[in-house]
Amino acid sequence: MNLVDAFNRKIQNVRISIQDKCDLRCVYCMPENGVKWLDKKEQLTFSEIFKLIEVFNDLDVKKIKLTGGEPLLRKDVIELIKKITIDLPKIELSMTTNGVLLSKYGKQLFNAGLRRVNISLDTLNHDKFEEITRKNKLNQVLEGIKCAIEVGLEVKINAVSIKNFNDDKKSLNEFINFSERNNIPIRFIELMPFTGNKWNFDNYVSSEELRETIKSSNKLIPLKIADKSSTAKYWGTEKNKATVGFISSVSESFCENCNRIRVTAEGKLRPCLHRHLEYDLRPYLNGQKRFENISKFIQMAINEKWKEHPNFLALRYKPPIDDREMIRIGG
Ligand code: SAM
Ligand code: SF4
Repeated sequence: MNLVDAFNRKIQNVRISIQDKCDLRCVYCMPENGVKWLDKKEQLTFSEIFKLIEVFNDLDVKKIKLTGGEPLLRKDVIELIKKITIDLPKIELSMTTNGVLLSKYGKQLFNAGLRRVNISLDTLNHDKFEEITRKNKLNQVLEGIKCAIEVGLEVKINAVSIKNFNDDKKSLNEFINFSERNNIPIRFIELMPFTGNKWNFDNYVSSEELRETIKSSNKLIPLKIADKSSTAKYWGTEKNKATVGFISSVSESFCENCNRIRVTAEGKLRPCLHRHLEYDLRPYLNGQKRFENISKFIQMAINEKWKEHPNFLALRYKPPIDDREMIRIGG
């Protein structure tokens, strides 16, 4: 059985939050006053997460991304990766991390079979890093990136773009130089509205504006992408020394080709990132409901995927106030 939604989009990409907690407090992800963490017993267990990934594997899901919160704060993360890569070799497994613990775990992650990591980094400036993450940990992240590259992980850097914070020529050039020096792609993500993150037109900057700023000192050459469902569009700088991606979730929504769903750390399936609707998978994983019915339940949830999310740039658009914060969804 394949998972196909009401608009004929085949679901092949699942992001699973394996840890709601985080060691950074990025202002666009976690509200100033924090969020209520889950009790340990509220979180999916090792065997529930694995069972779920097995189910997705049987449903022809190709890609699983482990996320959070911060996935590396989960104690059994290495064991989990080992089990997935050994028992389910068809799954393309990756992880999104803030990089703080990567220098500690990089080698173990690689040895466990992980091959790809996306590392979030919004600035290369120490003061700005502390302003945006509310923690003074840039050195740890830079060490983490170095370690990930050295052990052989395929690394991509993701930076959330924020107006008057990291959208100026100097900041963008620092990222491009970093990408060139380390031979890793840098991707700029448009800031999205979530409950508690105070999104508005004053802190939002579009990919197009970033490209214009970059072009004032660099040549940008569009690169072809093979994967239609990829959320990023790529450009190369002159002689393709740096690869620069743009994830334009706000200005150019990619709902039309969306093939992804999310599962929160307590096992709620969210068919759409920006839709309040959730389906509780845990009863099927812990024996309260018949496990044989989980695939039908997942398909029912997928039938509820929106054709497209609201236009965040519409005049009347109001950011959500009572949905989950991004940190509790899992990015
Ligand atoms: N802690 C890990 C990390 O930071 O990579 C994984 C979880 S984090 C929620 C996943 C991704 O979501 C990060 O790349 C982060 O920058 C992105 N993100 C969080 N809030 C966002 C927002 N409001 N708009 C765009 N991206 C956001
Ligand atoms: Fe933590 Fe990642 Fe959210 Fe930052 S973006 S607060 S690192 S979960």
